[in-house]
Amino acid sequence: AIARTLWRKKIPVHVCRMSYSSSVPTTKLFIDGKFVESQTSEWIDIHNPATNEVIGRVPKATQEEMLAAVNSCSKAYSAWSDMSILSRQQIFLRYQQLIKDNIKELAKSITLEQGKTLADAEGDVFRGLQVVEHACSITSLMLGETLPSITKDMDTYTYRLPIGVCAGIAPFNFPAMIPLWMFPMGLVCGNTYLLKPSERVPGCTMLLARLLQDAGVPDGTLNIIHGQHAAVNFICDHPAIKAISFVGSNQAGEYIYERGSKNGKRVQSNMGAKNHGVVMPDANKENTLNQLVGAAFGAAGQRCMALSTAILVGEARDWLPELVERTKNLRVNAGDQPGADVGPLISPEAKNRVNSLIQSGVDEGAKVLLDGRNVHVKGYENGNFVGPTILGNVTPNMKCYTEEIFGPVLVVLEADSLDEAISMVNNNPYGNGTAIFTTNGATARKYTNEVDVGQIGVNVPIPVPLPMFSFTGSRGSFRGDTNFYGKQGIQFYTQIKTITSQWKAEDATLKSPAVTMPT
Ligand code: NAD
Repeated sequence: AIARTLWRKKIPVHVCRMSYSSSVPTTKLFIDGKFVESQTSEWIDIHNPATNEVIGRVPKATQEEMLAAVNSCSKAYSAWSDMSILSRQQIFLRYQQLIKDNIKELAKSITLEQGKTLADAEGDVFRGLQVVEHACSITSLMLGETLPSITKDMDTYTYRLPIGVCAGIAPFNFPAMIPLWMFPMGLVCGNTYLLKPSERVPGCTMLLARLLQDAGVPDGTLNIIHGQHAAVNFICDHPAIKAISFVGSNQAGEYIYERGSKNGKRVQSNMGAKNHGVVMPDANKENTLNQLVGAAFGAAGQRCMALSTAILVGEARDWLPELVERTKNLRVNAGDQPGADVGPLISPEAKNRVNSLIQSGVDEGAKVLLDGRNVHVKGYENGNFVGPTILGNVTPNMKCYTEEIFGPVLVVLEADSLDEAISMVNNNPYGNGTAIFTTNGATARKYTNEVDVGQIGVNVPIPVPLPMFSFTGSRGSFRGDTNFYGKQGIQFYTQIKTITSQWKAEDATLKSPAVTMPT
């Protein structure tokens, strides 16, 4: 209530921390199997994006706490990596069931802290759960290779083994799915794991940690620290950490890739995006327009695979008015309200940034076909809402095209031919995802062959691969060489040991030293 009053009076709540600290719940650290209160003096407020009320505080962990967490990972490593793979598998089989049983509670926590609709939040958990389910096949995924009789009496075989302590740094937009891309894959391979959730949405990760503990994971196997830059630098620098998985913006991702790599760690870094939906005039119109609207405005555009850019080719230009009409039907509301399609943005800063990118488009000659800047959401006047917005007449030099907007804004470009559309997509620095809408197989084949983008949908607007494949963003959207989850995820979290063994019969014993290279 105090926080609400401060908000109404427009007093930044962090300025008055001492006055309300006892009434706001704090996020705990998870160290050595215990949920502990941080001893820090520095806290970050967590807000409900639909109201901007302060709903909790997250600590910036102290140096001692971060050291305790990584030391706990190191101490737990020997027993965990030695545990039979069948026992690890059993823990993850229990874990996937616990996530399923608690999906509603996890989703509620996501909607409260992140803002997305409850149905979308359940999707967030579900897509992460699929990674956990996949991790349960570890007994097949970690198989090595063998080749008997390399030479007489000699066999070669490989073991796929864990690498040690691994770490994950997560973004705010998928509070369940992205942490679940990280620690389950790392742990099931036999590594221990240090996780730093986004400081804006830590609640869901803490629930996931509790469930992992309930599934029977030993103390110290997973540790969780909180914070911002200091925690990130700690992860990049600590010598016990062998690998870092990062998902977030380019600014942070490039920095973490460089700093972690310089320190000799493996780093996989999934970053920003500008995903194009190319609409051919032969596409199924009804299907295409619905897909485009859903993929541009779902989760208020705060998905790295959102189709934030449409390229209408040839006569598909004429579909624009209908696209606008369909978009008008979306309901903007708090994520926990029935019928909500588009929730709030994560923060007032994000809202201001999105609004200013819309304005930059207007200033540079784009036409606002639908303007969500002054949307009014009854009962949620303080929320970070921007309604669905469509900008037409956009050209590739405009800031609203060159920058990732990460909000409910669809920018629309036009092209005379498929070749022109392909060249626009390839000239954009990002390479996360794209989709083509067409009924012509040859057109689809040409597009999938010629665009330089990691994940392509053919009549599929958000082609996020299921976990038996990997998440394969490329170019400006990815740094590293092995991607998240799937076979590549296993590769990232393991190393290979190769054994060559010879068992000779007694009478074949070597009679003198062999000093030449064996051939
Ligand atoms: P973010 O980069 O602000 O934060 C991600 C993490 O990095 C957080 O844990 C944060 O504490 C830390 N961080 C933030 N700024 C930092 C800095 N300057 N130095 C070091 N660490 C820093 O990202 P976000 O706003 O939470 O997430 C949105 C971004 O993530 C978008 O750009 C989106 O496209 C991208 N994203 C990419 C994927 C993908 O798979 N490619 C998936 C989801 C989100």
